Amino acid sequence: MFDRWLADRNDCFESSGIRKVFDLAAAMKDPINLSIGQPHFDVPLEIQDACIEAIRGGKNAYSQTQGIGPLRQRLADQIRDRFPHQQRDVLITSGTSGGLVLSMLALVNPGDEVIFFDPYFVMYPALVRLAGGVPVVIDTYPDFRINLQRVADTITSRTKLVLVNSPANPTGVTASEQELRELAELCRERGVVLVSDEIYSHFQYDDPFVSPASFNDETVVIDGFSKSHAMTGWRVGYIHGPPPLIAAMAKMQQFTFVCAPQPAQWGALAAVDIDLQRHVDDYRRKRDLVVAGLRDHYELSRPTGAFYAFPQVPWGTADSFVRRAIENRLLIIPGNIFSGRDSHFRISYAADDETLHRGLEVLRRLAH
Ligand code: PMP
Repeated sequence: MFDRWLADRNDCFESSGIRKVFDLAAAMKDPINLSIGQPHFDVPLEIQDACIEAIRGGKNAYSQTQGIGPLRQRLADQIRDRFPHQQRDVLITSGTSGGLVLSMLALVNPGDEVIFFDPYFVMYPALVRLAGGVPVVIDTYPDFRINLQRVADTITSRTKLVLVNSPANPTGVTASEQELRELAELCRERGVVLVSDEIYSHFQYDDPFVSPASFNDETVVIDGFSKSHAMTGWRVGYIHGPPPLIAAMAKMQQFTFVCAPQPAQWGALAAVDIDLQRHVDDYRRKRDLVVAGLRDHYELSRPTGAFYAFPQVPWGTADSFVRRAIENRLLIIPGNIFSGRDSHFRISYAADDETLHRGLEVLRRLAH
């Protein structure tokens, strides 16, 4: 009966398979949980204190839609240092997801094609469809690298936007400077917007992080504090890019999210000054543990960023393999959540060492 009230756009979203794993986790006693896409450390105390102080100090109202002045200024200074010859504005958003929603709504017309790479972050196809766009995926198996010729061949007169994510969820693979430069230049030549989801930019282990915006000043960059500072529940992200695009997104925010939570924005201001090196080094070490632990048993593209690894299943489909893992109390995510294929699975190594070792042991046992 309620079906006739539900709008067609509900069909954009499949209820996430990740939820299924989380529900199982909640019901399970002592699971080995390598399924969670957030850091395992807590929000640094300085950030907590700044937020509490803001709340106690009465900073509880709406902020300006664009975000509180001091945070915008701090980010604008950083952005100017990184891209000295570019005109870029910044908008504080309700998490990185908020930034993704605003960019799709502000840039994608019904029927516009949006190109992204498979495997992809779960929200991408849904948000493109929500905006009326047509998702066009480029398969990057088996090494998850950007093949520029394939991108060039995929761009049509209907292509509005290319969405890139490096370091990537779910593969943990990072694009090289050359890949990003060529992609950025191609988008400029073909008159296509490049949107770069840089939420994992702090977690890059072997080479320095590079943004494609360095090579194309029209690039829209989406970033945020969720992963870098373990603030997933605080909902603070930001977008920076060409002023006319950011202005459109700010207008869109005014009529939807209104603003990011004000006390959390004061927390984010404190976050900007925090040194994350200790955590980055810790995740690099955990990455090495995962690679060493699985190398002889699984096909695995060496992860170089974020906190994920994406090995190929040794037998069956990812769905059947993950079911077996869950029977062994190991929670991991099947690749079909992030992909048209069902051949790989995602491990998050944002976990304590004991959990990680237990998980790797189960995986080695299941490999044969
Ligand atoms: N982009 C990617 C690639 C992600 O992995 C995530 C979170 N899993 C997001 C965006 C959304 O992050 P936020 O919590 O800041 O909305």
